[in-house]
Amino acid sequence: MRLFSLATASVLIALAATRPAAAQSLPQPKWADVERETLEHFQALLRLDTRNPPGNERRAAEYLKNVFDREGIPARILALDSNRSNVVARLKGTGRKRPLLIMGHTDVVTVDSTKWTHPPFAATRDGGYVYGRGAVDDKDNVAAGLMTMLLLKRLNVPLDRDVIFLAESGEEGTTRVGIDFVTRQHLDEINAEYCLAEGGGATRISGDVKYATIQTLEKRGRGIELMARGVAGHGSVPLKSNAIVHLAGSVARIGAWRPEIRLNETTRGYFERLATLSPPDVARHYRGVLSSDSAARRAADDWLYENEPRHSSMLRTSVSPNIIAGGYRSNVIPSEARATLDVRMLPDEDPDRFLEEMKKVVNDPSVEVRFPSAAFGRPTGAESRLDSEAFKAIEAAVRRVYNVPAIPVMSTGATDMSFVRAKGIQCFGIGPAVDMEDGPRGFGGHSDQERILESELHRFVRLNWDIVTSLARAK
Ligand SMILES: [Zn+2]
Repeated sequence: MRLFSLATASVLIALAATRPAAAQSLPQPKWADVERETLEHFQALLRLDTRNPPGNERRAAEYLKNVFDREGIPARILALDSNRSNVVARLKGTGRKRPLLIMGHTDVVTVDSTKWTHPPFAATRDGGYVYGRGAVDDKDNVAAGLMTMLLLKRLNVPLDRDVIFLAESGEEGTTRVGIDFVTRQHLDEINAEYCLAEGGGATRISGDVKYATIQTLEKRGRGIELMARGVAGHGSVPLKSNAIVHLAGSVARIGAWRPEIRLNETTRGYFERLATLSPPDVARHYRGVLSSDSAARRAADDWLYENEPRHSSMLRTSVSPNIIAGGYRSNVIPSEARATLDVRMLPDEDPDRFLEEMKKVVNDPSVEVRFPSAAFGRPTGAESRLDSEAFKAIEAAVRRVYNVPAIPVMSTGATDMSFVRAKGIQCFGIGPAVDMEDGPRGFGGHSDQERILESELHRFVRLNWDIVTSLARAK
């Protein structure tokens, strides 16, 4: 109970005398103490080298397990590969509602140490920031989830639903050992009505938080290959069937193609709300996207493609040709050439139908359009609902903690939530506030100066606590 202030305790005792236990107001943590402890765990986690590959997430899993053990919170290690373990912990509720899952991944992407001003695994504090690989992807979510669990336990908050914490390995491209394994073999340990994870965040512009995004949906990566075949021959005798020429033409046609615009509940809500928060000259493009007039939609799309390409990608299944390969000497006409396309499908896209559409765009019988045989795929699940208790609770918490509106967002990339959503659990991506300028200036996730504002880390813990207690505590 060391985080329980005496003043709060006496107020609670007075309240308890006049009100039934279940209706007690929520005990408030002593935030100054919480902040000290948050920083301690956060820095300790950043100092564990869990770069993936190779991962070594066991370091983080064991650290977390030790903390839970010390606090008397039941926790278990789950491992497909003992060096790449996951840890799951659970606080029991009455079972009146189905559980709430809080997730964070413990692996981080690799680093080029020579590029870092502050060493990537030192968790250096400088100028109000903490620097380190994983600072915003995703040890911030791990630390916030951990603190919420500790506070729920210490303050003995009565719960209507179990609160489950999962720190999973392998999110950065090796889900086989992490979320894929956990959802496949230990679903009963994490099964829940709702889940909170990474993928959202609050946006600061010139030092003020303007809005917070809540990720309710993500696109699904599904690569496509173009394979051109022609006749091999001497380079001194050009051939009409030259595979490189046919491939280049096909790639150019695909590059010029913009698949149809299709909105869903999340992206519609996103552009609607973003329009109300943006200056008029930008807002008109967001409204244009929503227009029923196809010329207005096209004009808005043109502007976004040029100026805000991420937003253009949100409108459609996107295609980006990213690898091209063919030929091996200058005087040999190669018989084959291949292009690899990064395709990010809208969640409701029919992959086979899309492939057929692409064949029509390519329109060249010597170029095969196909899904690669060994694709790294993530499953897909339904859009998390905006009229759910969880979305409303997050929205209200965002209002209390930041005093700004919340906006649903669809990620153009994929996270571990895809596996969890595929099991029917509604997932919501949240995250701390970061300066909008930080990413472009090279301080964002996966950058060589990944960092988080200490004050925003602490606010994120409060947000996490607010959301979890409003969704899970007994009322
Ligand atoms: Zn991440």
